[in-house]
Formats: sequence, C-alpha cells, structure tokens
Amino acid sequence: MVVPGAPIVHRTGDTEIRYRPDSDLWYLTGFAEPGALLVLRGFADEDRSVLFVRPRDEAAERWTGPRLGPDAAAGLVGVDRARSSEELRDALPGLLAGADRVHYRFGANLGGANLGATPDLNELVVRSLATARAKRRTEGKGPRGTVDPGEILDPLRLRKDEDEIRAIREAAAITVEGMREGLRHVKPGAGEWEIEAAIESSFRRGGADGAAFPTIVGSGPNACTLHYVENSRRMEAGELLLVDAGAERRMYSGDATRTVPVSGAFSAEQAALYEIVESARRVGVATAAPGTAIAAVHQAALGALVDGLIEIGVLRGTAEALVERGEHKRYFPHQTSHWLGLDTHDVGDYNRDGVSQILEPGMVLTVEPGLYFPTDDGSRFRGIGIRIEDDVLVTAGGREVLTAALPTALHELAR
Ligand code: MN
Ligand code: MN
Repeated sequence: MVVPGAPIVHRTGDTEIRYRPDSDLWYLTGFAEPGALLVLRGFADEDRSVLFVRPRDEAAERWTGPRLGPDAAAGLVGVDRARSSEELRDALPGLLAGADRVHYRFGANLGGANLGATPDLNELVVRSLATARAKRRTEGKGPRGTVDPGEILDPLRLRKDEDEIRAIREAAAITVEGMREGLRHVKPGAGEWEIEAAIESSFRRGGADGAAFPTIVGSGPNACTLHYVENSRRMEAGELLLVDAGAERRMYSGDATRTVPVSGAFSAEQAALYEIVESARRVGVATAAPGTAIAAVHQAALGALVDGLIEIGVLRGTAEALVERGEHKRYFPHQTSHWLGLDTHDVGDYNRDGVSQILEPGMVLTVEPGLYFPTDDGSRFRGIGIRIEDDVLVTAGGREVLTAALPTALHELAR
C-alpha cells in the first residue's frame, strides 16, 4: 500500500494554507509533516513499513520550521524504516516488486481523499508497476494491478477505537462551546460574520486546530443554501438563523447545526416546520443503535418529515407513495446522516451490494434532518430553512449524543 501525504496548497501567490495531513496517512502514522509517504508491505519479511519523510534542511527549516528527518522519524512513528523522500523515486519500484497487487489511489485533484497523489507520483507508481510486472515473468511474483486503499482502510476508520472516540468527544465538546458562544451574539442587525467570528475564536481558544469545515451562518433565505459560506448578510428580526459548525481537534471533526429565531420568537410557520424537523431529529437519533442499519435512521427521520409535511398540507398523499416518487426531495434534498471522524464526511460504506451498513458500537454518525423552502415556493413557508444536527456515537447500550448539551427543543430556543 502506498499512501502519500496531502499536497501543499497555495491560497494566493506563494502563500500556503496551513498544512493539514492526509487523513489516511495520519490514521496510519500520526505523522504530521508535509511531504511524507508511507509504503506498507504486508508480504515482506523486512521493511514491512517504510516512511519517506523530508530530509533535514537547515535553510528550509528556518522558514517553515523544524523537520524530524528520517533518522528521528523511524523511532517516533514506529515504522520499520524511515528514508529521505529524495530516495523515493529510486526506491519505490523495488519496494513494490514482491507484491501481488498495489493499494494506491490514482487521481490527483479530482476531489476526495489522497490529493497527494500528484501526476508525478501517479507516473512513478505506473512505472514501478511496469518494472515489477516485467520481473514477474522471471521471478514468479509481482503486482498485477492496483486496488483502492479504501478497501482496507475505510472499514478500519469506520470503527473508532477508544482514543479516536476520546478525540471526537473533545471535538464535539469544543463544537458545543463554540456554538453556544456564537448563538449568544444572535440579534436583529447582527452580521452573519459576527457569529462566525465568535464560533471560530471559541474553537481556537478551546484547543481546536480550527474549524473542520467553513462555518455556515445562514440567516433568513440563506438558510436554504445548503453550503452557504459567504456569511456576509445582516440578520433581520423575524427570521431564522441556521448555524452549522464543527471544530477539528487532534484531527477529528465535530459537526453540529442549530436553527434559532433571530428576535427570540418563532412565527407560526417557522414553529410548525421547526417542530417537524425536531421530531425527525429525535426519531432519527433514537433509531441509531447497534444492529440497526444506517438506512433505518434515514427512513425514520424521513418518515417524520413527510408525515409532518402531510399534516401541514404541504404534501398530499400517502407517505409511502410520496417518498417512492421522491417528492420530499424538494424540501429535504440530502441524507439524514454521514459518518464522522478524521474527515467530517468520513470514509466507510453506507451501503454495500444493496445492503445497508449495520451500526456497531464505536461508529459515529451525524443525524441532521432539515426542511428548506425556496424563496420562490408558492406556500406560506417560502424562504424558511431549518436543519438540526447532532453527533451520535453508537454504544453497546444504544447511543450517546455527543452534542446533546446544545438545546434543540423549541421552547428552549425561544427567548
Ligand atoms: Mn454540519
Ligand atoms: Mn454534517
């Protein structure tokens, strides 16, 4: 398996954004420097784990800080051997030669994980494979192809161990505190950016690396844009404010959403929709338990949303037929849950060969139903967007809501 680090990304000109290690590489090594690459060789008798790291360089280290270097890295990371990344080009073909197949993710900059798979590295892996294939004819072994590393790593990352759960707990706790701090600043005339600033400063003060994803602060109609991140509008009395934020702590992510009335009181329309979303959140959370399929969490939440929309006259027909035809998607276009971990939308299958993933203790998922009525909707609900999101750890006895300290009940949010 060949796992590269994340690329160094420039924001403007030669200004780098703060380096964030690739999640797979971090999961396997805990090594946080840029320019690293791990080779795992399960077939080999020696050098079963080889980590390539940037060599020491006094001049470069003056600008970007100290490097561990290969000599110190091996012992600290716990790999069989650490080598200078300058040796990668010559060493990789030999390291792959004895493998049956190579786990490597091709495809740089196509989105998704392992963006460190640069065209250069892709080419190096291809050449290594070609070299090894040629040798196969005489030596009787050598790789016959590549497989996505996720085949092995995703199921491991889906099941969190105790230390990972501790980190997610910490991320969730800092997220809760930041949300509290941010919601304290909600009032008519306040800028969405002020809420963002309060939340993210609280994250950093609370020990987070920062926000795990761009904080969403959407007032009024902006709440209907699912990934609204401009946060540039002033909120007005009578509107709702949707805030979706998550702290990153020790590389793990929190992710919570609350929707609150800007002036402290819900209108009848806002309250009706809010109660529907909150009932969907409650039933979704209650459904998450060991032995239950993750699809059942979505079905439960979706059922509550559709029942509610029928009750207030937005949808007509039976819930079953409406869902079958996808008519709910106009108001609820996303899924109820995603896995949560090193990535905010963490790895792990939701479904394999048409069978939904069964929840197990140690899995962490969000439950985040929502309803969004576009501004051009014909109903009295137009322009209202509501989402409520919690982080849920599946436990032996059922579940634990890691973001439960943030109130969700309507009467708790009205001021
Ligand atoms: Mn979220
Ligand atoms: Mn989420």
